[in-house]
Amino acid sequence: MSCQPFREAVSARLDDEPLGLPGRALDEHLSGCSACASWAADAAAVTRRARLATAPVVPDLTAVVLGALPRELPGAAAAARARLVETGLRFALLAIGVAQTGLAWPLLVTGAGAMSAPMHMAHETGAWNIAVGASFLAVAALPRLAAGALPFLGTLSVVLVWVTAADLAAGHVHLERAAAHLLLLGGVVLVATTAWRSRRQRSAHAVGRRVVA
Ligand SMILES: [Zn+2]
Repeated sequence: MSCQPFREAVSARLDDEPLGLPGRALDEHLSGCSACASWAADAAAVTRRARLATAPVVPDLTAVVLGALPRELPGAAAAARARLVETGLRFALLAIGVAQTGLAWPLLVTGAGAMSAPMHMAHETGAWNIAVGASFLAVAALPRLAAGALPFLGTLSVVLVWVTAADLAAGHVHLERAAAHLLLLGGVVLVATTAWRSRRQRSAHAVGRRVVA
């Protein structure tokens, strides 16, 4: 039998390619044919030398590539800033919500501090102020509620600013009590900012999805 198919199989085996015949048949031939065994050993040596040849020298670009990379991935710094601002907004709202509720609670329980308003008016005002404080706390806990809270809080603050300005001009309210409304205004500004930011984030995500798709 010709040795040629076996030598082709040896070559194929060195290149990890299909042998074209059973491996066992090749091994049996190599153990019985010293010419092919010697040819196979030479071929293996040549292949090994070729594979171990020194790779061409290329310049080491590691430092250049690393130096060209931005210090942070694009968007990472902006995302970190956004998270920081959101955390700040939520803590500020939490503080205002606690203060607002704390101020309203005695009024609700005792009717005190309502500038001799009728008892039920004091209670009613206390309930409203507690509701405002609870709204701030709810948005601090779940910022996605901000937009939903705005119609109530926005209307209350606009009307309150309007009547308080009129009452101050007419001398119907002490500056001290009017100043207490600044707490409410501060909270409403924070809620509006939270709502605006989450709307902006949603539209940015929507644009991102469109770009990806
Ligand atoms: Zn042979």
